[in-house]
Amino acid sequence: MKILFATSNLNKAAEVSSMLPEHFEILTLKDIDHTEDIPETSPTIKGNAMQKANFILENYKIECFADDTGLEINALDGEPGVVSARYAGEDRSDDANMALVLEKLNNESDRSAQFRTVIALNIKDMQLVFEGIVKGTILKVGRGENGFGYDPIFEPENCGKSFAEMTMEEKNSYSHRARAFAKMIEYLNLHQ
Ligand code: IMP
Repeated sequence: MKILFATSNLNKAAEVSSMLPEHFEILTLKDIDHTEDIPETSPTIKGNAMQKANFILENYKIECFADDTGLEINALDGEPGVVSARYAGEDRSDDANMALVLEKLNNESDRSAQFRTVIALNIKDMQLVFEGIVKGTILKVGRGENGFGYDPIFEPENCGKSFAEMTMEEKNSYSHRARAFAKMIEYLNLHQ
C-alpha cells in the first residue's frame, strides 16, 4: 500500500519507512514533484499537521500523513511552540533561534520544556491524530554537534546528554517524533 508522507526530508521518511511493515511504501513530496511549501497557518502544532495532510489529500487525492513539531518551554508560556522553526526570524536560523531562547531564559530557574510532535493521518476517509512528547530541560550552554534545530540545548529527562550529543539511533529511542510515529505505525499494523 502506498502512503504519502508530506515532507521532502528524506531522513524523516527513511526513519518512518524502517518502522513500517513491508506492504507499506512511503512516498514523499519529491515522488509527486511537489516543490512548493505547504501552507502552515494554524496557531497550533496539531492544526498545522492537519492542514498539511488535508492540503495533500485535496490536491493529490492520495492517502497521506503530515507531521508538525514544536519546542514548548514552560517559563515562556509554551514558546516557541508553533513558531519553533522561525522563532528568531524568517531565515529559520537554528543558531539564532537557540540564542533567543537562551537570552529569554537568562536568570530563569525553571528551565523545563518539552518537544511535541503531532502527526495527522488521512486514510480511508478518516483523519486520525497521533502525538509524541519528550520532556526535558533547556541547558545554559549548547552541547554536541549532531542533529538539528534546538538539539544542542535540549536534554531529555533522566539522560545526562543533549540530543546533539546522541547518535541518531539513540535520539530516536527517546524522541517526540519517534514516539508519535510509533503510535501511528501501531495503528496501521492493527487496522490496515
Ligand atoms: P518541523 O515541524 O519538524 O519542521 O519542526 C519545526 C521546528 O522545530 C524545526 O525547524 C526545529 O527548529 C524544531 N525541531 C523539530 N524537531 C526537532 C528535533 O528533533 N530537535 C530539535 N529541534 C527540532
